[in-house]
Order: sequence, then C-alpha cells, then structure tokens
Amino acid sequence: MNYQYWHPKMETLPRPELEAWQLARLKDMITYALRTPFYKERLTRVGIRGAEDIKSLDDIKRIPFTTKHDLREAFPYGMLSVPLEDVIRLHASSGTTGTPTTIYFNRQDIGRWSGFVARCIYGTGCNRTDVFQNMISYGLFTGGLGFHAGGEEIGMLVIPSGSGNTTRQFKLMQDFGTTVVHATPSFLLHVESRMKEEGVSRDSISLKRAFAGAEPYSEDTRRRIEELLHIDVYNSYGLSEMSGPGVAFECQAKNGLHLWEDGYIAEIVDPETLEPVPEGEIGELVLTILCREATPILRYRTRDLSGFYPDPCPCGRTHRRLRRITGRTDDMLIINGVNLFPSQIEEVIMGIREVGNNYLIVVEKDGSLDRLTVKTEVGPDIFMDDARPLNALREKIRKTLQALITINPRVELHESGSLPVSEGKAKRVQDNRSKDV
Ligand code: ADP
Ligand code: ZN
Repeated sequence: MNYQYWHPKMETLPRPELEAWQLARLKDMITYALRTPFYKERLTRVGIRGAEDIKSLDDIKRIPFTTKHDLREAFPYGMLSVPLEDVIRLHASSGTTGTPTTIYFNRQDIGRWSGFVARCIYGTGCNRTDVFQNMISYGLFTGGLGFHAGGEEIGMLVIPSGSGNTTRQFKLMQDFGTTVVHATPSFLLHVESRMKEEGVSRDSISLKRAFAGAEPYSEDTRRRIEELLHIDVYNSYGLSEMSGPGVAFECQAKNGLHLWEDGYIAEIVDPETLEPVPEGEIGELVLTILCREATPILRYRTRDLSGFYPDPCPCGRTHRRLRRITGRTDDMLIINGVNLFPSQIEEVIMGIREVGNNYLIVVEKDGSLDRLTVKTEVGPDIFMDDARPLNALREKIRKTLQALITINPRVELHESGSLPVSEGKAKRVQDNRSKDV
C-alpha cells in the first residue's frame, strides 16, 4: 500500500527525536500551567516551580494527575493560562458523565489542532479532491468544528451538515457527490437503515470512507458498517479535554490508532493503583497535552481503557498505536456481582448477522437481583409477524451472550427503526436500578 503523510517529517520522526521534542514541549506546558491558579498550587506543592524543574520525560511522574473533577472545580477560568484577550474560542465536553468541562484556545492552538486533524484525515487516503460531509454536531462539541477545520486545511470541500436529518443528509450526498463522512458509529448504522427505508440506492451516492468515533464500538460494528455501506471505516479518538478529535486515529493499515506523540504524552496506568501497567497491557489512558497553550492539561485521567500495540505499524509512522478503546472505567456495569462492559455485549450482538443496526441495554432490579434486558432491532430479512425465526434469533442471542460473557439476559426483539436514536453519542445503557430502591 502507498501510505501518504500530511506532515512527513513529524509523522515519521525517529523515537529519540520525538522524545526530545516531547521534553521541550512539556517544559513549555509547565511554564503555561504555572500561570493558572489551579496548576500553580498543584505544581508548587510537589516542588515544580519552573520548566527547569523538569529534566527528563520521566519527571512527568512528579506531576499530580488531573481529573474531570479538578476541571469542574476550576470552572470557569481556573485553568486559563493566557490573558482572555488572546483567547479566540472555547469548547466544552458533551457532558456524557456529568457537568461539562471547558477548554480555551488561542490562535496558535486552533492552528495546531487543525494540523493534527488534517494529519488524521489525510492518513486515511483522502486529499483535496474529496467532498467531506461532517455529520456530527457543530457548536460547543469539538467534533464539528474540529473536523471541519482539518478538512479545510487539506483543501477538501467541507459540507457542514451537522448531525441528524437523514433525508437531508442523503440529498446532500447525492447533490454534491460526497466521498467521505464523519459521524458516530451509531449514526452511521442508522443512516444505513434509513437508506433502505427511504429507497436511496447505493449507486446514487459516491461514498468511499467514513471516520467514526466519539463513542466506543467494536470491530464487528466497524465491519458491519463497512460491508453494509461498501466503504472503509476509520476509528477516530479524541476528547474535549485534549482539544477533541485529532488525538489518535487509524491509518490505512486499520490496526490500532496512532496517537500523535508530538502533541500528546500518553501513559497507561492501573486505574486502582495509578502505577504504570507493563508494556502493552490494558489500563487507563492518561494524557498530557503538548499542543495547547491557553489550557494546558497535565496527566489527565481520561477514564478510557486502552493499551499500546508493541510492534511498529507497516505504514512507517513512529507514533505508537492505541488499541480500540472498549469503554470507560465508569461504564462498567455490575450485574449480580459480575463485571461487564456494554462493549462486550455490543461485540456479541453486532457479530450476529440477523441482528439489526440498533440496540439498547436495560438494567433493573428484580427483587434483590439485577435483571439485564438486551433489546435489539432485527435485520431487514426478518419479519416481525413470523414467530419461528424470531424465537430462533432470540435464543441465538441469549445463548451466545451466555456462552461468551456468562450472563443470562432477557432478549427482546424490535422492529427495525423502533429503538431510540440519538443524534449525538448513542445512549446504549439504561440503568434503572437506583430508581427502584
Ligand atoms: P464526554 O466525556 O462528556 O463524552 P467528549 O465529547 O469530550 O465528552 O467525549 C470524549 C470521550 O468519548 C472519550 O473520553 C471517550 O470515552 C469517548 N470516545 C471518543 N472517541 C472514541 C472512540 N473512537 N472509541 C471509543 N470511545 C471514544
Ligand atoms: Zn500506521
């Protein structure tokens, strides 16, 4: 394969040079951080009074972790490190797990961020001849404007369609010959179902690729989207605390997400002990941003679970690859004492061909026990009024879940298009247990 780099020098920088770059940038970040009330207090407490107190990359371990709670405490301006008149934009997290947090950008920060996103997009084989429909929310959420700027930097024609409204999305695709889209994986599945229902033929659109991210999804879901829509799907990872998209992205080898180590320092720690896990193992991803002056965030506990692939990527990039993020530490469900991640359920059901494109996990109290119900839509070749195949499918889902993740859920089948669809991040789990007590 002919791999293409947007920034050939930085993307293939030999590791020793990459690390020297990281150290220099980390020192800069310390200088900026010390200008914020929050980090001034945190860093001086551990004896870091200036950039000169950081002598090697290993010194990062002296810096205390930053948590989402800290960011909320510092709201609104406690983490701002430049005068307000130098700030040109703010963004906020989606608030999936609570109050949103805010980050600020100066002009250079916005430029660097677009550069990283452009790198991600270009690395999937796109170029300025592509027509890019950005089917994700614009606004405070970083996914809209972040991808928009990256696409423009490459010189693609960017259509700021935003999320939702599939009929209009199809029309835009047909009218302008869209070749690449960005969306959540759940919205892409929804688009595919709607395409059938609205009678939009695959031949009437020119789609070749999609960037899918903002929420966890399994390899089976990726394959399903690729096969149903006849496109290549690339995994995109980012979080607003680290500026949003552009943190880690798959290249054309599609095996792990290159984390841009000239922009971010990554550590993988045991979420309980906060000690580094052995090389290659899974743990909580901790990130330090190196490419944003206005809100330097150091050793941020993302709560996302991942690990690094130990071997180099065939594409030649020297930046390490993250494994697909399976979920957050706080997504974990405890069902009758068994620990379970929603992604484990997703992996099973999306691998079953007869299952449709949407599902929902419901947890309730049943006396003193927990009861788990998996609701899935059925695929287009199964009819809701024909009991035999429905029963067989229900049994198949139940047995596969039981065999692979030792839970025995109730399985409910629903007609295609009948389960709720969210325009942003999908809400896959409805935990009603606290309401019952
Ligand atoms: P919030 O934390 O409120 O959801 P963000 O919009 O900043 O706000 O979302 C970032 C989070 O989304 C990440 O920390 C991660 O949990 C999830 N996420 C983003 N991209 C991916 C991806 N490709 N795979 C899995 N999870 C992802
Ligand atoms: Zn690669």
